[in-house]
Amino acid sequence: MKATNPDPKAAAGHSAAAIKQLYQQHVVPSYGRFDLVFERGRGSYLWDASGKRYLDLGSGIAVCCLGHSHPAVTEALVEQSQKLVHISNLYYHEPQGRLAGELARRIGPGKCFFCNSGAEANEGLYKLARKFGHDEGRFEILTATNSFHGRTLAGIAATGQDKVKKGFEPMVAGFRQVPFNDLEAMRAAISPATAAILIEGIQGEGGITPASPEYLLGLRQLCNERRLLLLMDGVQCGYFRTGAFQSFQRILEGVPGGEGFLPDAISMAKSLAGGFPMGAFWVREPYADVLGPGTHASTFGGTPLACAVALKILEVIEREALALNAWNLGEWLRKALEQLAARFPSVLRSVRGVGFMLGFELAPTLPGLAADKTVAAQIVNRLHEAGLLSIPAGNQVVRLLPALNLTQSEAEEGLRIIEGVLAPLAS
Ligand SMILES: *Cc1c(COP(=O)(O)O)cnc(C)c1O
Repeated sequence: MKATNPDPKAAAGHSAAAIKQLYQQHVVPSYGRFDLVFERGRGSYLWDASGKRYLDLGSGIAVCCLGHSHPAVTEALVEQSQKLVHISNLYYHEPQGRLAGELARRIGPGKCFFCNSGAEANEGLYKLARKFGHDEGRFEILTATNSFHGRTLAGIAATGQDKVKKGFEPMVAGFRQVPFNDLEAMRAAISPATAAILIEGIQGEGGITPASPEYLLGLRQLCNERRLLLLMDGVQCGYFRTGAFQSFQRILEGVPGGEGFLPDAISMAKSLAGGFPMGAFWVREPYADVLGPGTHASTFGGTPLACAVALKILEVIEREALALNAWNLGEWLRKALEQLAARFPSVLRSVRGVGFMLGFELAPTLPGLAADKTVAAQIVNRLHEAGLLSIPAGNQVVRLLPALNLTQSEAEEGLRIIEGVLAPLAS
């Protein structure tokens, strides 16, 4: 008994090895974790248990949009928690109403529903689509190959990647995948049962693949013609990451016919409360009342505390013009990475994405790397050794999803570290 059940307190303030031991014994091993134990963070830096500093260009997979331990987030948490942390959605409170207004103001006329995660926000979209199509017997949602929509049962059915479905069959019915950025394939896939189309504006887990402007405009028209809802998963690519509030606003910037574009609903989570768990979806008029009283709910959705944090984050983003920072510094980073790709074509295949949602594609094999692990994971590991955090996407892409308040000098530091790791691999 003693050996298999150590006192958890024994690890408090102790070694990384003791912490990992607790995980091995008591945490469900559903994640492939990197061998890093973190203790604290400040801005775009994190410190591990040994005191080593890392530049964090992953920001908790696009979550910590103001970096770590931002004083405004701390202030909002402290102030609101002294007033009211939680009340049921049986009642009204000011922060939820104000936040819904702020989100709608940045998208278009419509309403918001609050929940706690990205998968849950997408669940809301699936229920919206089902309710919308119900009386006509329509229920099917078409999604894209290589997409990612979360790990709930319906989330993995919606996701266009076999690896998340494997072992969990049978899949929830009513989802089918179609190649991304292929309007004709989508048109051909529509059946009498189809109620909605769901896409990411920029596929994140799938390897940083933006939807083309023609695809977005074509889907809008297709959905109008066939009376389908156009749903967008903005969990990763939304929330100013591209330099615009939502990715389609960036993708369609200056594109003729793009000004009036709106999807029918958008899911959000990740950066929404900067690390405080929160999800939401926005749905436009005239569908904003499809989910009427009693049709959908979440105990923790949109608590005063979560909403107060999200409101404070919006305030900081506006005051410090962080969307513009993501747009401009993202452009700089992208160009710098493209220059690296031009210098080391045998290592770097391409650079993708916009703003602070960037990916660089590595060659399928690189000298000195093991054959039994993905190239992306091994490069991410080498970047860790060199003091930089990034996120793998698929086998060959490394993602950079930094905090929106990343500075020029931090971006330069990141680039130097990336060059230092990749240059020696060039032939
Ligand atoms: C992360 C992510 C999700 C799932 O969000 P969770 O908060 O992990 O449930 C869904 N869609 C996209 C595009 C994501 O990047």
